[in-house]
Amino acid sequence: MKTIGIDLGGTKMSAGLVEKSGTILEKVTVARPSDDVGMAEGPLELASKLMQSDVTGIGLGAAGLVSWPEGRLVWGPNVAGRSIPFKALLEDRFGLPAVVDNDANFAALAESRIGAARNRHTVLLVTLGTGIGGGIVIGGEIYRGASFAGEVGHMVVDVGGPRCTCGQRGCWETFASGRRLDQIARDIAATNPAGLTARLAGEGPASGTHLTEAAIQGDAQAEQSLAEMGAWLGIGLASLIALLDPHVIVVGGGVSRAGDILLEPTRRSMRAAVEGSTLRGPTSLVSAALGEDAGLVGAGLVAAELPRG
Ligand SMILES: [Zn+2]
Repeated sequence: MKTIGIDLGGTKMSAGLVEKSGTILEKVTVARPSDDVGMAEGPLELASKLMQSDVTGIGLGAAGLVSWPEGRLVWGPNVAGRSIPFKALLEDRFGLPAVVDNDANFAALAESRIGAARNRHTVLLVTLGTGIGGGIVIGGEIYRGASFAGEVGHMVVDVGGPRCTCGQRGCWETFASGRRLDQIARDIAATNPAGLTARLAGEGPASGTHLTEAAIQGDAQAEQSLAEMGAWLGIGLASLIALLDPHVIVVGGGVSRAGDILLEPTRRSMRAAVEGSTLRGPTSLVSAALGEDAGLVGAGLVAAELPRG
């Protein structure tokens, strides 16, 4: 028995053939379509590439607001499409049960089932991708609130701060995300063309990936930038601890590749900003175990539990 898990992210989309254990048998990744028609059709095309006769269901996680249980991508600050009824589209196309949810919700579920948060009751997952995604799993179940819970990247941390892609100002992800790190990398490369970030970028534009690599190689300026981003991350996480008091916080997404260069300053800032830091036990902050595949695997795992029509 297999399912197809699809992850529709801010810059790319992936689909995988997923076993019940969470193992990915086959995977395809393509750039995210930039127009509305491609956004609606792209994930269906990916699924058809992997379709086999023993596939029992399809799960799709999308970056953005997904109405539950209708499975409609209502709006995504980092995606072009608007209001796409993915669950209905997938079920009509393939004649199989489908489940559609926010991508970070699926990633959180996967980490809590088979990843870094196994056997923990209250789990917060924060994905540092293009923006900041969030997923909350309590007692093995995704917490959805009325529909859209876990949109942590859009908590306002600076009133009147920088404009966010969601239209508001001062959202958490304007200070700590892949998009922000790309911006910092370009600034560093422009002001210090002889520095390691600029040299790693070569002819092309510098990105967060170059900055992270420079930091891993010991470049002080790049390390400092990641430390400053970690400080912002810690401030947001302190608020989330005040609200949820999770047993574990799992950090995933591309930016988390920096590892402890980012996470140590994050832990320090989080401890400094949290209410009652000396009274509560330290909240463990760990790297995601499933990496960039968490959303896809979680979508596949949930699809495996769908009742078969
Ligand atoms: Zn926002």
